[in-house]
Amino acid sequence: MSEIQKKIIIVGGGPAGSSTALHLSKLNPELIPDILLLEKATHPRTKVCSGALSHHGSLVLKGLGIQPDVPHIPLRDIRMAYGKHHYSFKGNPVARVFQRSELDQWLLEEVRKSGVEVRENEGVQQASIEEDGVTLHTDRAQYRAKMVVAADGASSPVRHALGWPINPNNKSRLLDFPSPPEASFPLKPAGVDANHEVSLHERGLAILYFSRISQGLQGYLWDIPTQHGGSLYVDRGLFDSRTFAHRPIVALKDELRPFLAQRNLDLDSQAQRLSSHPYHFFDPSNEFSRPHILLAGDAAGVDPLCGEGIAFALGYGRVAAKHLVRGFKNQDFSGKGYKQEILKDPVTKQLRMRFRLARMAYSIRSSAVLSAGWSIASFFARFTKWNNADYVPDNPGKS
Ligand SMILES: Cc1cc2nc3c(=O)[nH]c(=O)nc-3n(C[C@H](O)[C@H](O)[C@H](O)COP(=O)(O)OP(=O)(O)OC[C@H]3O[C@@H](n4cnc5c(N)ncnc54)[C@H](O)[C@@H]3O)c2cc1C
Repeated sequence: MSEIQKKIIIVGGGPAGSSTALHLSKLNPELIPDILLLEKATHPRTKVCSGALSHHGSLVLKGLGIQPDVPHIPLRDIRMAYGKHHYSFKGNPVARVFQRSELDQWLLEEVRKSGVEVRENEGVQQASIEEDGVTLHTDRAQYRAKMVVAADGASSPVRHALGWPINPNNKSRLLDFPSPPEASFPLKPAGVDANHEVSLHERGLAILYFSRISQGLQGYLWDIPTQHGGSLYVDRGLFDSRTFAHRPIVALKDELRPFLAQRNLDLDSQAQRLSSHPYHFFDPSNEFSRPHILLAGDAAGVDPLCGEGIAFALGYGRVAAKHLVRGFKNQDFSGKGYKQEILKDPVTKQLRMRFRLARMAYSIRSSAVLSAGWSIASFFARFTKWNNADYVPDNPGKS
């Protein structure tokens, strides 16, 4: 088997990998012939995700001079609810909800347009770090690169092949249950009107319910309006960050079942809709690079407060590209300094803040304290920019 040599190989064509490639091609076009992106699947590939892209991600894309040219639902209100208390992040829009297969396909097409070579349907099976680079094996070829970016998702086969274990204290869990459009929503949670199915879409409203924290869930359940192929539906699911890994494990299906039942959905008879996703979350004490290799996106870790990952994956890509451009200029392939760069970038630095917030928010178990906290937050939220429905948070220059 012949060996193909490149300066940089990016493994994974999701938001983290595509963002790395696009930033590299923008920052140093001379590198373009020496970059290769390997993707296991063929786009459009299925990706289970609610698809909400926050303003942080839109700003990264705007920095690249591109905006997604694919259908989406603009969110105007992301509501954080605890019991009867709630507060909102509003904006015009505050976030956009995409079908992930469409968003990721568009992004990868932008990579191709930039001139970077993309090989789909070619998954990395083995990886090894040597003194002067990394060797990768797929079922078609052997590759050698001076630097590799592992942007291959939460299960990161590259990380696995290198024997680079995930910190056992950082394991989160997600359940996803996309709901049929006809599912009705008979309750009035968190100040929402009746006939919610319509109102969620009409009002661009997503709701995150943190009410089960006092019962041990270190996360929330959600209703997020979305669309697929022109049909409207609502994505439902559950995020359990497990920020405090030593606490008893919550039975996630038992949390989701009554939540779905309130929406006239039966988890057990529609179990085929349910999918579960182990994740691992960002922890600033972790290692994000080794000589000749950088981790990006889910391979490095998601936000432990809300499980947000798309915007951060785009942000990680920017940091990785800047690091690589500087590394090739200085002939430094040690990966040193990458973590500090993650902690400084305007987008990825939020991960450390969310790590701290998660440790604070999920440490509280008293429902009286949580209610009081939510009530205070909802009072003060009225005086912030996030209470202005006309606020445009992805206006360049904001973060
Ligand atoms: C149920 C659920 C709901 C979510 N909702 C949201 C949300 O609303 N908003 C949000 O911001 N985040 C959300 N997330 C998180 C978000 O989906 C991820 O954080 C995001 O996809 C990370 O992007 P990535 O590029 O790091 O990884 P991925 O999107 O997973 O991309 C990795 C790519 O690597 C490829 N790959 C894997 N193995 C190999 C290999 N061996 N060789 C080559 N290629 C390989 C894969 O095919 C894939 O294309 C959700 C996640 C789940 C599970």
